[in-house]
Amino acid sequence: WVAASFTKQQFPLVRLSSDSAAPRTPHFDVIVIGGGHAGTEAATAAARCGSRTLLLTHRVDTIGQMSCNPSFGGIGKGHLMREVDALDGLCSRICDQSGVHYKVLNRRKGPAVWGLRAQIDRKLYKQNMQKEILNTPLLTVQEGAVEDLILTEPEPEHTGKCRVSGVVLVDGSTVYAESVILTTGTFLRGMIVIGLEMHPAGRLGDQPSIGLAQTLEKLGFVVGRLKTGTPPRIAKDSINFSILNKQTPDNPSVPFSFTNETVWIKPEDQLPCYLTYTNPRVDEIVLNNLHLNSHVKETTRGPRYCPSIESKVLRFPNRLHQVWLEPEGMDSDLIYPQGLSMTLPTELQEKMITCIRGLEKAKVIQPGYGVQYDYLDPRQITPSLETHLVQRLFFAGQINGTTGYEEAAAQGVIAGINASLRVSRKPPFVVSRTEGYIGVLIDDLTTLGTSEPYRMFTSRVEFRLSLRPDNADIRLTLRGYKDAGCVSQQRYEGACWMKSSLEEGISVLKSIEFSSSKWKNLIPEVSISTSRSLPVRALDVLKYEEVDMDSLAKAVPEPLKKYTKCRELAERLKIEATYESVLFHQLQEIKGVQQDEALQLPKDIDYLTIRDVSLSHEVREKLHFSRPQTIGAASRIPGVTPAAIINLLRFVKTTQ
Ligand code: FAD
Repeated sequence: WVAASFTKQQFPLVRLSSDSAAPRTPHFDVIVIGGGHAGTEAATAAARCGSRTLLLTHRVDTIGQMSCNPSFGGIGKGHLMREVDALDGLCSRICDQSGVHYKVLNRRKGPAVWGLRAQIDRKLYKQNMQKEILNTPLLTVQEGAVEDLILTEPEPEHTGKCRVSGVVLVDGSTVYAESVILTTGTFLRGMIVIGLEMHPAGRLGDQPSIGLAQTLEKLGFVVGRLKTGTPPRIAKDSINFSILNKQTPDNPSVPFSFTNETVWIKPEDQLPCYLTYTNPRVDEIVLNNLHLNSHVKETTRGPRYCPSIESKVLRFPNRLHQVWLEPEGMDSDLIYPQGLSMTLPTELQEKMITCIRGLEKAKVIQPGYGVQYDYLDPRQITPSLETHLVQRLFFAGQINGTTGYEEAAAQGVIAGINASLRVSRKPPFVVSRTEGYIGVLIDDLTTLGTSEPYRMFTSRVEFRLSLRPDNADIRLTLRGYKDAGCVSQQRYEGACWMKSSLEEGISVLKSIEFSSSKWKNLIPEVSISTSRSLPVRALDVLKYEEVDMDSLAKAVPEPLKKYTKCRELAERLKIEATYESVLFHQLQEIKGVQQDEALQLPKDIDYLTIRDVSLSHEVREKLHFSRPQTIGAASRIPGVTPAAIINLLRFVKTTQ
């Protein structure tokens, strides 16, 4: 089990961090490999938890690079960003310093499924992220390509499993650590594709990771292959915006971070987006040139959730597809055509683009391309993101089969926390499906696995009405502070204040009761429909669309006026009122699910041989592979039948 490259060679450490407390010996608590969206969150989370952390990445100047779209958030993804922020993660705060067009999606639906989204200035995001990373206490940053892992004998209490204890760089030097997190994105055996040309690369201009991919395979990890792609970038001054539909940003902007009341660039200074559509000529170019396109074929159409224009034409022929023209930054000369990801040969890319309305004279500055890469079957990791196979080795981000910056960031923060907790031998920090979108994401990955890039959607979440973007701090900040130690004192106190103010506000709103006729006099613009004899609570009046805390406080200044002083509190009380009755039932359901979730399956159970529980061979194999930690997780594995779950439940209860 010990890697051949296990040496005691000194590591030539170049310290780029400002931290003066980090030691000068090459031994860290946590090493994070990769400076993408998972890696930056993982490294800073581990450091916030008190671990001496090393971030090892190919190039410092690509830390925080947005490989594809110049935007963050969206439906489901905005929830993840709020949850990362609630755990004191970076991406939401950095976005608020770099956003150039804010828009809340799904506004017509309830606030539970609003999608906070913004166009982000790529250059600013990278600059702000690098500044933050290089100024994080306890975090050291080092350039280098990791080729191999150093493995040692298992810890006594976990016989049979080897343990990671460091990494080997491409120059043969070594660094040691208690825990290692891999966040290598699309780099494992990455291969870039344009037309029929293919060449090895992690993304355009970046070398792939071959040695590390081979190490993981040699260790016995189950590896799969996924593909994704990115659109060409177009010169801004070659587009005729005047004939296209213009979309202006929201005013006011809704910030991503709980710590921000407003965003860096004022709404009136933000940039517009424009909408255009494909047409039958686009379909024709795609269909006539499939033989020149090795990334997308009739049979292998690529990812479902960030599909290329070729896949869309093949899946939905004869339709007009939306193309959003999005700014790449405040002073960028480039436009990102969202919806036009493609891998046609370069000359055909411009031909296709110039048949689209508004793009007749468009100049392609950088061609679109596809990338194919190795990912690791995420059923090989636990809900704390540690691998089953190698102790103290964690995976986070696109390496686990997900797509998107937000999905990567969410896993990064959880891996960083857990790698650090593992060092201090504390229990893992796991977010359940009832607590957050992060919990749903990780539970889906670790129990169901994925065969195509996994993206977060609100429809994947059972308890949508409780897991809202507005209350992510109440759900996670308090736990993040107490159970993980990854949240600052200031943020914790802010969340505590908000929680108690909401509880107090709701109880005050419940206690104010008048007859419907008295309410009619106080707030004439709303007609309250209830039996005349029954008193109506202020909380029920606040549920009406036309009523907000301001109008309610005008009608009943005492004691309500004080709840209008903080805008966020007033808006959150309105949301709580809107969902009050449905939430009551949902909370009962959540309690039921949490009871199941709490039932832990024994860690050392050998499903293949155990005789005390009756299970089919197929179920045994599935449980053996996925190693669910709870009855709830076991029940979500496809093919694990309700009968098997009942047998497992009986078994767990008798052994407890
Ligand atoms: P990355 O952001 O890729 O970061 C990986 C990091 O690891 C890099 O810093 C790299 O230098 C470093 N690294 C890798 N190997 C090593 C090593 N051996 N040693 C040291 N450092 C190493 N997402 C969408 O949501 N929609 C899309 O349409 C979409 N299209 C994409 C198209 C392309 C071409 C690419 C490349 C990505 C696309 N993505 C898309 C995905 C999005 O960019 C990723 O989901 C996100 O960046 C993943 O974050 P990550 O941290 O896991 O990996």
